[in-house]
Amino acid sequence: MNHRSLLLFASLTPLVSLYAVVQSGRSDGSHFQLERIPAPATNDAAGQATFRVVGGTADRSAGSLTVLNDGFIPRGEDDPSRNFFFAQGSNGGLVLVDLGKSIEVASVASYSWHYSTRAAQRFALYGTNVEKPELPKWLEAPKGDWKLIEKVDTSKVPAGQHGVLIRGADEKSLGQFRHLLFEVKPNRSKGNFNETFFSEIDVIDANGPEVTRIEKPEPIVKKFPSKSGEFTYTLDATEASDLAEWAEEHLLPVMDEWYPKIIAMLPVPGVAPSTEITFTLRPAKNLPKNLSGVPAYASGAAVVFNADFMRRELGGEAVGAGIHEIVHVVQFAGRDENGRITRGKRLPTWVTEGAADYIRWFLFEPEKQGARITRRNFGRASHDSSYRITAHFFDWVVKNHDEDLMRHINLSIHEGYQEALWKEWTGKTLKELGVEWKEANRKALGL
Ligand SMILES: [Zn+2]
Repeated sequence: MNHRSLLLFASLTPLVSLYAVVQSGRSDGSHFQLERIPAPATNDAAGQATFRVVGGTADRSAGSLTVLNDGFIPRGEDDPSRNFFFAQGSNGGLVLVDLGKSIEVASVASYSWHYSTRAAQRFALYGTNVEKPELPKWLEAPKGDWKLIEKVDTSKVPAGQHGVLIRGADEKSLGQFRHLLFEVKPNRSKGNFNETFFSEIDVIDANGPEVTRIEKPEPIVKKFPSKSGEFTYTLDATEASDLAEWAEEHLLPVMDEWYPKIIAMLPVPGVAPSTEITFTLRPAKNLPKNLSGVPAYASGAAVVFNADFMRRELGGEAVGAGIHEIVHVVQFAGRDENGRITRGKRLPTWVTEGAADYIRWFLFEPEKQGARITRRNFGRASHDSSYRITAHFFDWVVKNHDEDLMRHINLSIHEGYQEALWKEWTGKTLKELGVEWKEANRKALGL
């Protein structure tokens, strides 16, 4: 039998195809290192193809269709913007893949990733070699030019990373195709969230270049004891290996010099600072979407640096950004005698960010004059503008009203903050201080 008659036969008996083989694999890992299924390709024919929704509606929080053929995988197990999925509670939809020209398709692979019900894949794959095929009607089985290649259902496979490979039987290719069509159905998971998070679609051209695939990076993780022996720092440069040496030589020694200093500056009775800090260097593309533009951030005792920012700022702001973050570690990662993080009424962020920037710009690197009030920013500068502006306000308060301000602020993180405390610390209300500071700036600038 030739391919054409096999195709016809396959479409009549959809669940058992003679010329196509479906394999599936899963993993709990992070780089689609799946059993039996190769990792996503980065130079496959889908990269040149055009993807289009021709039935159903994409979910509003889904990424655009380009996530399916950009060669990037999601950053985590629940990363909506790096996945494509149909609208919640809908009945799936149709994705048309125009390969741009007729190619001999060796195999098609689909990858999905979710920690729960949105990992499982359920779809039928159709193909046609017709240049301008008739578009199928949504919710009707594609017919005419369209031939069913295979049906896929991984609903019974536990959540995680799912990969499905549809390849030709007996080392043959799947056939000659100009277009592919994914008829996507909600998977059979129970509950509402059963629209699959599709992460990547690969189409391998039998006559294409050698396929390159996503690789799991070798972990580059090193532990460093502090000079005093009191603290341990972990450096994770797995995702930015080019920065490992710099971080070891220029970042960690400064962190170790300043972490104990900051702790001494901000004591809280009964609260012990974290004895371990993890510093991770991560490219912006792998950061959560809302944080991809920040230089660095801290969560508990874990500091994450935006590797792209660091690379640009090695001789500039890189180390200072680290100082800012370890102030947050002292602010928020301390524990009481029972090992619990104690926190009173959480401070407004302008206070904690201002404190972190005060220690950075006025104590760590005052020579850089990174937090000035100038004729340009004077107009919109307010004591609660946060970051550098607030740092400047704090410096003024420290010099004029309360040299213990940093310690007072940090105490209030644990004992409970309220605006009335400013009067206790300085003899003036916050509002009065703000006005006085603004006035002092006006005079200094000759305005
Ligand atoms: Zn901050």
